[in-house]
Amino acid sequence: MKASNMLISTLKEAPQEAKIASHVLLLRAGMIKNEVAGIYNYLPFGLRVLNKVEKVIREEMDNSGAIEILCSAIQPKELWVESGRWMKYGPELMRLKDRHEREFCLGPTHEEVFTSMARELIKSSKQLPINMYQIQTKYRDELRPRFGLMRGREFIMKDAYSFDKDEKGLEVSYQNMYDTYSRIFTRLGLHFQPVLADTGNIGGNGSHQFMALSEVGESEIAYCDACGYAADVEKATTKLDGYKGLPEGNIEKIYTPNHGTIEELKEFLNMDPRNMTKTLVYHDFMNEKFVIAMVRGDREINTIKLVNAINSNENYLRLATDEELVSLGFVKGFSGPIGHEDYEIYVDYEIENMTGFLTGANEKDYHITNVKYGRDFKGILCDLKTAAKGDLCPICGKPLQLERGIEVGQIFKLQTKYSQAMNCVYVDEKGNNVPMVMGCYGIGVTRTLQSIVEQYHDEAGIKWPLNVAPYHAVVVPINYNDQEQKRLADEIYAELKKNNVEVILDDRDERPGFKFKDWELIGIPYMIVCGRRSNENIVEFKLRATLEKTELAKEDAISRIVTDVNNI
Ligand code: ATP
Ligand code: MG
Repeated sequence: MKASNMLISTLKEAPQEAKIASHVLLLRAGMIKNEVAGIYNYLPFGLRVLNKVEKVIREEMDNSGAIEILCSAIQPKELWVESGRWMKYGPELMRLKDRHEREFCLGPTHEEVFTSMARELIKSSKQLPINMYQIQTKYRDELRPRFGLMRGREFIMKDAYSFDKDEKGLEVSYQNMYDTYSRIFTRLGLHFQPVLADTGNIGGNGSHQFMALSEVGESEIAYCDACGYAADVEKATTKLDGYKGLPEGNIEKIYTPNHGTIEELKEFLNMDPRNMTKTLVYHDFMNEKFVIAMVRGDREINTIKLVNAINSNENYLRLATDEELVSLGFVKGFSGPIGHEDYEIYVDYEIENMTGFLTGANEKDYHITNVKYGRDFKGILCDLKTAAKGDLCPICGKPLQLERGIEVGQIFKLQTKYSQAMNCVYVDEKGNNVPMVMGCYGIGVTRTLQSIVEQYHDEAGIKWPLNVAPYHAVVVPINYNDQEQKRLADEIYAELKKNNVEVILDDRDERPGFKFKDWELIGIPYMIVCGRRSNENIVEFKLRATLEKTELAKEDAISRIVTDVNNI
């Protein structure tokens, strides 16, 4: 392809809203273009990368034995009512009506559609197991679309759904996808870590996320160097540290004027926050009730764990407002469980065996000390705290580390959650209708693309791995009007093309520095510069990954690129 025929739309600076390097670079390199928040168009270079990322995913999915289909983005409400998610999915679901007032949604995921497909198309148990997948556009009305393709409102996902006769079959299908995902992310060059995960809005009872390791990741991973345990902090459990709190004693009301936060109390009472507790009141809109959650003073409440404990949904849970607190008999900063046992009180396991601790007295400016769980109040014990650095590994007891990651994929054992609700059954040998046992498996294709940029860039721009680069090589004559330079550049371009190298000839009438900058920003892995030694057939050979330059004979430069491209 000749540069003069291409749509090169590089920018000196990225728009203000781009906050992370990969977003800045995708915009500056002219790979994507923003329309409205969280919605992007893919420009020629971006689309070529996208196609290559999809190709890797397709090859590995096909190799795994999965079969490709393509579903509509538009899904009828009725399917979502059947599965019970029309309401539960919350405001992220983009809903619409046709001219007859019939309701639909733009699919944020396709469990319902695939389950409906399987129940109609699979007639015999002989057709099981089967794993169907698609690469398709999804819609989620994210509260805060941000970071470009990382969190869009429209994005491309590869989603797959497996149907098995029994649990044993699901285990095999799940492991097959786990291995396939590991191969996909390895081929895409990502530094990644599979972690145990919460099942969120999708449901089911077992799940892993695949995290591309990155400081800008929105997810946090707790992991253990000693035994390899790794989990999303939303999910991570820890071994209790056994801290006992205050010595056992009688409860006592103490005056703590205007000291409502843990920090203030720490100073005022000269007390270790581990001897205190936090009591927070939440409004659960899904079940229309208020619940109380308690963790140790040095801990944070993990709302995902709370949502699971109360069987609600993240989108339907928020802290009670000040007015609500007052009407329920709580006082902000001074709330406690005592006297509120008519509400469900969810108490973190760590509190259960403490001999004494501080809580709010539900009275302004007062706290109660020497409180003991089981003696002074009771609740529902559960794991509520967010794992922190140094907490003990639940498997081997060694201290946990924390690291940030970008969730590029997630796999779930759905079991019979959807097949039961939607009557997706097969007939077994005894003639019984048995619900199919399902798994589902997602890869954020566009998020993965941007994650590659996040891991492969420098000051000058993107450094695409060869197998996903928009083009493999670019030939840049310093001056295309110079006869010798033109001759050499044309010859190299033709030779590379003949050898299936995806190559650009930069025939633009621009300064060399301007041309180099463009290709470094766009991230073409190899650059061949035809300059003053063109008459000797000597070129400058530049590697984008390291910005390393060497003078090479024309043939050597060509053969180096052809060999590498053939080895992709
Ligand atoms: P997140 O926790 O980041 O919101 P999720 O767990 O809701 O994601 P899944 O339902 O597991 O997402 O979807 C499968 C994959 O789709 C995710 O692993 C992620 O890579 C991708 N994905 C999800 N939401 C978005 C989004 N808004 N923009 C781009 N990719 C997304
Ligand atoms: Mg997920």
